[in-house]
Amino acid sequence: MIYYEILCYSCKRKFKVYEGSLKYKQFKEKRNRIFCCEDCSHKIRMDAIKHFFR
Ligand SMILES: [Zn+2]
Repeated sequence: MIYYEILCYSCKRKFKVYEGSLKYKQFKEKRNRIFCCEDCSHKIRMDAIKHFFR
């Protein structure tokens, strides 16, 4: 299986994106944009929701 190893900008851990996923496509198009792993994107989303309801 083809994948890229991308550094998460939030937790600084490497994570893999597999061919066919949205992140894989985004990374292929723009390698200099920032990415975060599933855990962090989930956390960020939850924080945004919490903030929204405050
Ligand atoms: Zn992360």
